[in-house]
Amino acid sequence: MPFLSTRGEKNVTASQAILRGLAPDGGLYVPAAFPVIPLADVAAMATQPYPVRAARVLGALLDDYRQQELAQATALAYARFDGDGPAPLRALAPNLHMLELYHGPTLAFKDMALQLLPHLTRLAMDKNGEQRELFVLVATSGDTGKAALEGYCGVPGTRCAVFFPSQGVSEAQRLQMVTQAGANTHAIAVCGNFDDAQNGVKRIFADADFAKTMHAQGRTLSSANSINFGRLAPQVAYYFSAYADLLATGAITPGQRVHFAVPTGNFGNILAAEYARRMGLPVGKLLCASNSNNVLTDFLATGVYDANRPFHQTISPSMDILISSNLERLLFELCGRDASAVSAWMRALRTGGRYDIGATHLSALRGHFLGAWVDDGTTRATIRQVWRDHRRLLDPHTAVAARALLDYRQQTGDMAPAVVVSTASPFKFGRDVAQALFEDPAADAADDFACCRRLADTCGLTVPPAIAQLPALPIRHTLQTDPADMALTLLRALG
Ligand SMILES: *Cc1c(COP(=O)(O)O)cnc(C)c1O
Repeated sequence: MPFLSTRGEKNVTASQAILRGLAPDGGLYVPAAFPVIPLADVAAMATQPYPVRAARVLGALLDDYRQQELAQATALAYARFDGDGPAPLRALAPNLHMLELYHGPTLAFKDMALQLLPHLTRLAMDKNGEQRELFVLVATSGDTGKAALEGYCGVPGTRCAVFFPSQGVSEAQRLQMVTQAGANTHAIAVCGNFDDAQNGVKRIFADADFAKTMHAQGRTLSSANSINFGRLAPQVAYYFSAYADLLATGAITPGQRVHFAVPTGNFGNILAAEYARRMGLPVGKLLCASNSNNVLTDFLATGVYDANRPFHQTISPSMDILISSNLERLLFELCGRDASAVSAWMRALRTGGRYDIGATHLSALRGHFLGAWVDDGTTRATIRQVWRDHRRLLDPHTAVAARALLDYRQQTGDMAPAVVVSTASPFKFGRDVAQALFEDPAADAADDFACCRRLADTCGLTVPPAIAQLPALPIRHTLQTDPADMALTLLRALG
């Protein structure tokens, strides 16, 4: 089953799609058709360890990878997760569950894909006879960067450079990146916000001179951002895994629909849920939860995507995004895979910052997707409420999704089984979680690590070692750049 681009290119293999990241026509790669995984196979997953579940789903999606290669890759990738396993499902109430995706080495759900992507990439290089060094460029709003650095660190034949916004990442996130080990890793601060960093990386990818210089140096560019299909495919797997666990515990009956509430930024995580639905998983509503950067909420309400609005820095920084790149893949399905319609919308977005999909597409969209947004004050209140009611400590991103679900239930009375996708450890955002939980402005003055210790003491938890050890690690990356000079800075970093 080949892949095609949302802007028209056809007949690309999965490994080619993963190597390239972005299609040469500027589009995103999608499978030519969605394979169906029968419900009986999903039920059978209940007794399988996570790597086996993931290999089953990936095998259906990635045409030119052998099942045994995938089984080996998932076994290696998910061995680096803590004792709770890669994607444990926790019940808060009989019909309310948390899918915890933050048990990897960097404590955010990005590890689910970025621990695996380097393996998929290595295999893709071998399959396509790629001899050059694969130079992976990443723009990050905080979590992707560290997860990519950690995933590619030391992988032969690869190099990874991460651009993160100098403002708007948490202290723990920044330290995680600038202390990254490995001779093949680079972390560079961009004076600006995430959209500045992401646009800068897109410009580098479109820069023919830069590509020429890289080729002369024996390098070829690739992306680990969630536009890469190799990021998306591993994310589809955990929706199947969650459903298998719900079946196994008797929380649902086979075929029963399950709602998912997903804290959304670049639209990768929630799109993976939509792909799972298209692959036969009984997915109910998809609640697209945003913070005050509520461009997606408005889009799902009106059909107008309008990025011309102020950018807000929030306590859920990994969702501080105005251009949700993966939405392009959903639009492609929505309009019956009409590449010229998608191209026109994306052109309008590039030139005027907005597009309108019209009433027909909007009503199709609203059959499955609902948008909601939550401000910082309500996010903090939700962290307090869930701790009080359920004794679960949520990070701000997860709290946004939890609030969206609780509000949806209150508004509709729909108490169908639902899963809140939990995307980060609360200790990754220790200061904001402490401020929320203790309602204590003094937490402002304390450092992030003191906040984490206080949280751990109060809640009877342990600060994860990946956070606790950060202050003692040497700073290894100090480069800074203006958005306009990112290519130059990168060349300097390469020496
Ligand atoms: C990246 C991230 C998100 C947003 O996920 P998308 O796939 O970009 O929509 C939400 N929460 C956390 C903690 C993240 O790191």
